[in-house]
Amino acid sequence: MKACALALVAALAVGMGAQDAAAQTIVDARMGVHEERTRFVLEFDRAQPYRAFVLTGPNRAVIDLPDVEWRAAAPHTKPMVGLVGNLRYGLFRPGVSRVVIDLKGPARIASHFTLDAGGGSGPRIVVDLEPAAPDVAAAEEPVQSPQWAAYAERLERSSSAVASLAPPASAAGDRRIVVLDPGHGGVDPGAIGVSGVYEKDIVMAIAGTLKRELEATGRYEVVLTRDRDVYLPLRERYQVAHDVNAELFVSLHADSHPSRSLRGASVYTLSDTASDAEAAALAAKENKSDVIAGADLSGYTAEVSSILIDLAQQSVNENSWHFAEMLVDDLAREVRVLNNTHRFAGFAVLKSPNVPSVLVELGYLSNRDDEKLLRTDAYRERVSRALTRAVDRYFERQDRLSRS
Ligand SMILES: [Zn+2]
Repeated sequence: MKACALALVAALAVGMGAQDAAAQTIVDARMGVHEERTRFVLEFDRAQPYRAFVLTGPNRAVIDLPDVEWRAAAPHTKPMVGLVGNLRYGLFRPGVSRVVIDLKGPARIASHFTLDAGGGSGPRIVVDLEPAAPDVAAAEEPVQSPQWAAYAERLERSSSAVASLAPPASAAGDRRIVVLDPGHGGVDPGAIGVSGVYEKDIVMAIAGTLKRELEATGRYEVVLTRDRDVYLPLRERYQVAHDVNAELFVSLHADSHPSRSLRGASVYTLSDTASDAEAAALAAKENKSDVIAGADLSGYTAEVSSILIDLAQQSVNENSWHFAEMLVDDLAREVRVLNNTHRFAGFAVLKSPNVPSVLVELGYLSNRDDEKLLRTDAYRERVSRALTRAVDRYFERQDRLSRS
């Protein structure tokens, strides 16, 4: 079935990306202000093709590159200069790495060019941004280097070749299909911990342990929405659950909070009315993944980023609710949990109309103790044990109900 196909496509894509980008790196990222313009410079060990564009609502600039490694200082530690607010870097999709620059206002790309290696620097890409009226910024077209078109075409060809290699469906037998969704990824790091660790890496590691634990029972086939450090749009995450006929969808996260003393895990299910202001704020934050990754949301912004979810999608919520209640119970035996552990809010990633779905916040990366725990094998195993027990209990209940 499609699970294997997805995994194979991902594996081949990795191979292809690695071949294309063997040891190619970004060695530095620099910013400077010259009169009205903010200059953004990326330095590489080898020249790279690129494409750049600006987005509005919110204002961002995006530079797309081949799959190259970031060896410069961590993007989130870069100073904010001129028009540049926050900076992010990561895989946007196989073969395309992306730099996303949050802008302090609407802007346009005033000029862009490349510089050959010289003067002690490697090859560079230079993009000059200048303030622009909002309607001018919104009407800007992408720009690219002459080499980008050929790169994009090659990428297109290799990804269609990869897709046709996908094997025919193999049955999961009588095993139930559970989809695990490690949150964020690639250009979207998620929360950033007190020591600088990224949520996307923490939840990926936990997903791996949990997958092994669930599959070791012989009762489940586990499909991951992502099995590498790549960005995935929110709607594609729950789409995976549909595509593989999953019976349960679990999105894994680790939050951060301005109050650094806050600790513990919590479980969320979908609701158009948040259980409290904190849950609403959390959902709003998690729902921003597509914005953070520099996805062009024109046309479906309202659907993806709205925290008000269609009431018609609440029919599966009863099952989601039961699973969440069981999970809260099992988590509390293994790890510290928040008060009112089961909360409700409008998470876009839980919008699946027919697969029971929960989102787990495994702890707070803003808390020193939680962050330390989240990085240990022991904590990963405790969390996995709790989740496996809850999944077992959930399906036992489903079986009881279907027999009666
Ligand atoms: Zn998250």
